[in-house]
Amino acid sequence: MSHHQAPRRTSPDGRPNPTSGAQSGGISGSMNAEGQQEASPFYSTDRLLLNPNSDHKPDNYEDLELDFSPLIFSSLERYLPPNLLAETRVVKVDYMRDILLRYYPTKLQKQREYRQNIVSNYQPLHRELYTMKAEDFFVPLFLEAINTNTEQGFRNIIVEPSPGIFTFEMLQPRFCQMLLAEVENFENWVDETKFKVIRPNTMNKYGTVLDDIGMETMLDKLVENFVCPISKVFFPEVGGSTLDAHHGFVLEYGFDRDVQLGFHVDDSEVTLNVCLGKQFSGGELFFRGVRCEKHVNSEIRSEECFDYSHVPGCAILHHGHHRHGARATVSGHRINLLLWCRSSVFRELRKHQKDFSSWCRECQREKRERQHRHAAATKLELLRGQRETAS
Ligand SMILES: [Zn+2]
Repeated sequence: MSHHQAPRRTSPDGRPNPTSGAQSGGISGSMNAEGQQEASPFYSTDRLLLNPNSDHKPDNYEDLELDFSPLIFSSLERYLPPNLLAETRVVKVDYMRDILLRYYPTKLQKQREYRQNIVSNYQPLHRELYTMKAEDFFVPLFLEAINTNTEQGFRNIIVEPSPGIFTFEMLQPRFCQMLLAEVENFENWVDETKFKVIRPNTMNKYGTVLDDIGMETMLDKLVENFVCPISKVFFPEVGGSTLDAHHGFVLEYGFDRDVQLGFHVDDSEVTLNVCLGKQFSGGELFFRGVRCEKHVNSEIRSEECFDYSHVPGCAILHHGHHRHGARATVSGHRINLLLWCRSSVFRELRKHQKDFSSWCRECQREKRERQHRHAAATKLELLRGQRETAS
């Protein structure tokens, strides 16, 4: 009997699995719901051993892209039926993954269910927001620059008040008002239905993930056709030309909302931040220089300090690792649209990279120091050589 097929669907002796559907297969008897206890010894011998094989040295799974922690696979391997232990990692992973998936839905599956749950129950207020309609969303000058699609065209409408920070007028007032009303409508629905909503990030208690309420496709288009052309020109060193994923949300600030936002970097390659309104004072963004993960806490240079006051409808585009925070919104309410734009290509490359001197100021400094040391050492070598020749 082939090892490849037998363990997956039927037991080694040809018996069908004792249960079917989501509960079939099992890690051990204890994982099963009550009432299935009798059956558990049955499939624990089919799929996994009841007691681990402690003499077996499991494979390492750390270099594989998996839905679950590689450590889970290493531990689980000791429970594999003996006929599987000599198999390749790929066969073992496949077998174990199949078991794990029955018990633990992946993050992606959970997200899909969560979104489905909202989309099938929440009634949008402005359906026209859910499909990209550029001439209704953006101001004419912005559209013109996008259509021209040249650096000069972008420079005509964009201001760069500090290196790597780009500001421009982007959204029509009517679009801002509709989006504000949509978010308010959604929050009312959440209140009424006591829906357990997931907030945009760990730092904000108030805010709505637009991708979760059905705007993912529209925001995909926004990134692809309206952010990427600009970031391609201004952020090529961090994957600005290959943005292919995003996290889109709105944040609310005010006395009964989040008040301020601590110093941080975004989980993005490029961030688009557009103020939607309403009336407010305070809430300035402060920027403190671009740093890689390793240097995120390194010192701030005075020339890197830049403060920005929001204007409704206006966008600010910056490197995701440009360290920043938001000062307290001292009166009124401020609501901003955030798009964390990501590049999977850049993220893959970054994994194997240690030097980010093309964009991290601290990496740049370290590189210069290395070069100086190298130059000094070479000079010393040369001098020594000359002295030896002279003597
Ligand atoms: Zn660095």
